[in-house]
Amino acid sequence: MPDIRLSHITRSFGAFKAVDDITTVFPEGTVTCLLGPSGCGKTTLMRMIAGLETPTTGSINFGDRDVTQLAAGQRDVAMVFQYPVMYSTCSVIENIELPLRRDRSLSAAECRRRADEVLEVLQLGADRHAHIRDLDIGTRQKVAVGRAIARRCDVILFDEPTTNVEVHAKLALIRAFKEFRARLRQTVIYVTHDQTEAMTLADQIALMQSGRISQCAAPHVMYDKPESRFGGWFLGNPGMNFLAPRNREGATLRFDVLPGALALPAATTGEVSLGIRPEHVDVLPAPTAETVPARILRSSITIGGQNLLSLVVGETRLKAKTAPGIPPEDGATVFVRCPLEHAVFFVDGLRLPEAVQRAG
Ligand code: ATP
Repeated sequence: MPDIRLSHITRSFGAFKAVDDITTVFPEGTVTCLLGPSGCGKTTLMRMIAGLETPTTGSINFGDRDVTQLAAGQRDVAMVFQYPVMYSTCSVIENIELPLRRDRSLSAAECRRRADEVLEVLQLGADRHAHIRDLDIGTRQKVAVGRAIARRCDVILFDEPTTNVEVHAKLALIRAFKEFRARLRQTVIYVTHDQTEAMTLADQIALMQSGRISQCAAPHVMYDKPESRFGGWFLGNPGMNFLAPRNREGATLRFDVLPGALALPAATTGEVSLGIRPEHVDVLPAPTAETVPARILRSSITIGGQNLLSLVVGETRLKAKTAPGIPPEDGATVFVRCPLEHAVFFVDGLRLPEAVQRAG
């Protein structure tokens, strides 16, 4: 399977750059999720990789093959769209087999073998002879996935395939996707605006913002060490807290949420903020050496049963996610601890690569 190499890819619509000078490599045999807010350029980038859109400038390579000027049909790419495009009066097995039959190099027996394989991997055996028109959208989308993987193309592109699928069918589709990944190692680009899906499926997430890739990394790296405040904010529900220092004298910083002071690396200039995820903020009923007192402004219960607390410490507001249970009452005093090992420091919006130590 080839890797996908993008070199200075730009796509302009008039003066507007939907994709703006992207250079990156999506490694062979891996799943890359293009993730980002609406309008950041995910679909435009994917359409250029598919050959459905021509870059204004730049080049696209599949391995050593420059495909920039090749039409979609010449690229050996399979696609799965938001709405499955199917032969609605044909059966499931026919929908998977028919595109294979167009490939004259494949015998009828090989077409059947591949179709049987994907039916098994995607657990569609029971629907083998069902008509597409009689299936719900989730199962139809599974068939679309099966049809794409049966072709054994070098590259498979998924454009938000679960958007129109209800939540239980979506989980089944994601399970099926993981199962097929365990067996077949095609290079996959998967567009989604659903961060849970990206965290579950991706080998690496390419997080997009305003036509650019702001960070491309494994999901846990993206989550734990966002390169920018944008990454910290976009991933997580809710995203990271960003806390401004209470005061700064030279390289010494004090934050409302931390007892004592911190020492910035020498020569750090710019606006500093401390990022910490709500689930890493400990909320305790009694003080310890590492806590500061805080007041509960509001509490609510999240999907999954955790408590989401809005707190105030001095002038600083922050959110904390705590284990299921009865939350402290609004207005109550609690004690918060922000462990430094989970804190990420940003300077002018970008992550500070060096560690920040306690002063003194
Ligand atoms: P969404 O998640 O909402 O689908 P996206 O990240 O996939 O968004 P794109 O569909 O790639 O974003 O669009 C990126 C930007 O380019 C948007 O502002 C969109 O309006 C613009 N755009 C896309 N296609 C065209 C076009 N054919 N003509 C003009 N503008 C376009």
